[in-house]
Amino acid sequence: MVERNIKYLDNISLDEIKGFGEKRLSSFKKYGINNISNLLRFFPRKHIDRSQISKISSITSEISKEITILGEVTDVSVFTTKTRLRIATLIIKDDTGLIRAKWFGPQYIETRFKKDDSVAISGIPDVKKTGSIEFKNATIEKFSDLEELNETGSLIPIYPKIEGLSSTIIRKGIKEALRRTPKMEDFVTNKELSEYKITDRTSSYKNIHFPETIKDYEEARNRLAFDEFLYLQSIFKEIKETYSKKQTGIKHSINKDTLNYFGEKIPFDLTKSQKKVINEIFKDMSNEFPMKRLLQGDVGSGKTIVAAAAVYATINSLHQAVLMAPTEVLAEQHFTSLSQILIFNDIEIHLLTSSVTDRDKIMQTINEGIPALIIGTHALIQDNVKFKNLGLAIIDEQQRFGVEQRKKLTSDLKDTPHQLVMTATPIPRTAALAIYGDLDLSVIDELPPGRKSINSILLEGRTEDTEEIYKTCEKHLENNSQIFVVCPFIEESEKLDIKAAENVYKQYKEKFKNYRVEILHGKISSDEKEEIMKNMNTNNIDILISTVVIEVGIDIPNASLMIIESAERFGLNQLHQLRGRVGRGEKKSDCIFHITDGKDMETITEVGNKRLKAIVENNDGFKLSEIDLQIRGEGKVTGTSQSGMSDLKIADIRYDYDILQLSKKYFENNITSKNNALIQEEAKILFPNFGKVEDST
Ligand code: ADP
Ligand code: MG
Repeated sequence: MVERNIKYLDNISLDEIKGFGEKRLSSFKKYGINNISNLLRFFPRKHIDRSQISKISSITSEISKEITILGEVTDVSVFTTKTRLRIATLIIKDDTGLIRAKWFGPQYIETRFKKDDSVAISGIPDVKKTGSIEFKNATIEKFSDLEELNETGSLIPIYPKIEGLSSTIIRKGIKEALRRTPKMEDFVTNKELSEYKITDRTSSYKNIHFPETIKDYEEARNRLAFDEFLYLQSIFKEIKETYSKKQTGIKHSINKDTLNYFGEKIPFDLTKSQKKVINEIFKDMSNEFPMKRLLQGDVGSGKTIVAAAAVYATINSLHQAVLMAPTEVLAEQHFTSLSQILIFNDIEIHLLTSSVTDRDKIMQTINEGIPALIIGTHALIQDNVKFKNLGLAIIDEQQRFGVEQRKKLTSDLKDTPHQLVMTATPIPRTAALAIYGDLDLSVIDELPPGRKSINSILLEGRTEDTEEIYKTCEKHLENNSQIFVVCPFIEESEKLDIKAAENVYKQYKEKFKNYRVEILHGKISSDEKEEIMKNMNTNNIDILISTVVIEVGIDIPNASLMIIESAERFGLNQLHQLRGRVGRGEKKSDCIFHITDGKDMETITEVGNKRLKAIVENNDGFKLSEIDLQIRGEGKVTGTSQSGMSDLKIADIRYDYDILQLSKKYFENNITSKNNALIQEEAKILFPNFGKVEDST
């Protein structure tokens, strides 16, 4: 049998498919479907399971999974509520009864269906107390003739809407395309197919459309997702190779003793994980190809000391190092703690933020290429800052910076410095970055020893809740511990944020007269900020009220209580970051998530409600990040994304983590120049835009 590949199919125009007239062809073309390969890769958005077809009379309130009804439309109506929400209603009957189906929002169901249409409607039925049955935002399909249903297998594919084409026509076209593709070329050998427990491409392209069982469909989907991850890896490998050939990096002199010596000089023992990532970084840095590495570790996992090791190695081999942080407060803190950590090596360290006035000495150091560490904020990427001898650029909390800002730090330099970007925002986003972007990944997956887990408390907005908070404060204060109170950010206005923080500040000052209460926000001068952080560090402040400026990075081991005001407004990763500000020392720590006064779990938004439940139930940033994506992803109705040609079509980095891992394993172990050539060829045809955008942050 002749094997076909994507390149071949990409050259067969749709015109060659029987039964497609001008009008239909132009509808397809408008949607970007021009050839057989495009058509085969126009994936169904779902399947109707024929075995789940029910008669209306058999629906009971016990049914909690999706069923399908075949019937006829008997009435179409539309209604707009006072809040301008459009509700379209269809009444559908079969020979045993009738149901009502409603769609909320502008889906224009009423223009697509009329009385007497034969339809299949799928969804989870809602049986009212009165016995009437309702479907909400169900999937609905028109069937011109029910005969067609009998030609299809037990799972009927339903396609995304294309203006001017029914699913029936699309199905016919795809069947014809499949008929012309009796066998697909496969870059995975039969032996590898069984080793990796994946299915072949010929059956995958058939079963993604016309599977016999759900299992067939899933296997097909997994294989096609596996391939998409291979495309990504193959393209990024190529990009990386060209990049490292083009750029000349700096070979630092690092040997075994470098880490040993560093390890001896710091105040604690490095965790196994920290040692592992430092070794990865050192290995990269002793190579002339510039490192581009993403260091990921949950809040409090100890990324700073890893950065310090890299800085030490850089300066030790007589180069400059720079560390850029997203806020002044954080830059100052890094300045303080790195000065302490690196004190043993007599390293020159400077702080450069927009509020540093005495710049001459710093500029001289930078311009003359004197080996030193420069720590700062965006001020580091101003035009007049020109490093002469930069060997390492570190970016902390990289999710806070744009790609351009990151690039600016290292562009214009003849020798490309090694780059280390650090983040606490965990996989799967990071996994995406690591393969979408051309970064290598290092992960710290353990916390330093002796960490006590943080007790999370959820409180609502009643008066008793506020009393409870004050009581908890008393307890911590009596224990000579420090407290953070973080105030909500109110929409986009910094002014309102500050006002809210000032109100809270007044309340606490009033309530805790015998304690030192301070306030920190964006409009406070940097001298004062520095003073406040110093006082916080030396336990000269008991309660620090602040806007979200302390969200990232701040490290005060004696702080054991975090109170987050209007917690329902914060994102899940942000809540986790904030909670991570406590539980850093020996003391047992609490974090209170406080809902806005007057509100409770019932009256806040559904998303807010879910986020709060998730944060009190989970302590693991990895897990939380996944939940966050799920919460956000819920708005998405379809299973596969069809948007934009540069996106993956079938694989979803958020949910297909296992397939990604499998695909990575294959790419590492089984790739040959021959199959890589095939993969690349396909990747470039199917995803011409891959790699053109560096990454999506
Ligand atoms: P993050 O990864 O969130 O940036 P930090 O680097 O600020 O975390 O580290 C958090 C705290 O843990 C700091 O007080 C740091 O001194 C401490 N720490 C880091 N590594 C270790 C270790 N191996 N043993 C003990 N404490 C550590
Ligand atoms: Mg940090």
